[in-house]
Amino acid sequence: MTPGFTRTLCAAVAAATVWTAAAKAAECPRKDALGTSRVLRVDAATSPRVGLKSFPQTLPLQDREVVLTFDDGPWPGTTPQVLAALARECVLATFFMIGRSASAYPELVRRIAALGHTVGHHTWSHPNIKYMKPDAAVADIDKGFAAVEKALHGTVTTTQGIGIATPGIASATPTTPFFRYPYFEMTPATLDLLQNRGITVFGADLWASDWEPMKPAQQLKLLTERLQAARKGIILLHDPKAQTAAMLPAFLRYLRDNGYRVVHIVPAAAASTARAVQNPK
Ligand SMILES: [Zn+2]
Repeated sequence: MTPGFTRTLCAAVAAATVWTAAAKAAECPRKDALGTSRVLRVDAATSPRVGLKSFPQTLPLQDREVVLTFDDGPWPGTTPQVLAALARECVLATFFMIGRSASAYPELVRRIAALGHTVGHHTWSHPNIKYMKPDAAVADIDKGFAAVEKALHGTVTTTQGIGIATPGIASATPTTPFFRYPYFEMTPATLDLLQNRGITVFGADLWASDWEPMKPAQQLKLLTERLQAARKGIILLHDPKAQTAAMLPAFLRYLRDNGYRVVHIVPAAAASTARAVQNPK
């Protein structure tokens, strides 16, 4: 296969990715579902760092628009429950995955991508980057990229059923150039490195504090109160948390009943989304 053909194929699949997301929102079989209202392309050139908890700027969201993000998965105990809740409401989200979890559960990674969700990156081992030696920090970030890329694209099966090795698995820039630091702890050197590679760093605008043990009902109350105050934003949740998986259906209903709209984020560069929906098996 020539590089030119690969690029054409990637561009076609990229277009299909966005179309699929939009189509899913428009063609939701459940009439009163929350749905996904629009797709927002995020360009690292203009949005290198977003999320008001860490940075002065965030995504260009309208009043009552939210972006749903889930960190620290995939985890077979709870991620399928989260996916089912999202599917029931025809909602697309972004999953910032830990590389070693992606390596352990590659089928779950591919399932998330095949459903149309965006797959972002969250290091290999979830360390606190701030307390690491610079080389070790970069190594953990890169190993995380490579693990998720391998889970997604280790082998690409063409429409002719021919299995081919995917080039660039260990590329410094993953196909979806979205990254979030564990604990939002970052260093100037790694921030510069990610920016130079064209990778958007995601903070968050609000969160459910779901790392604290609490009942799903308490978490729902906390999160909805925070959302009422913020009115919009990038919301941080954790799909490996049972309390979050249990709360999610009620939270999505809350969004629908209160006029919130879900925005699905994808990379701006067409080629970046190219392989996100391939090889769902
Ligand atoms: Zn995390």
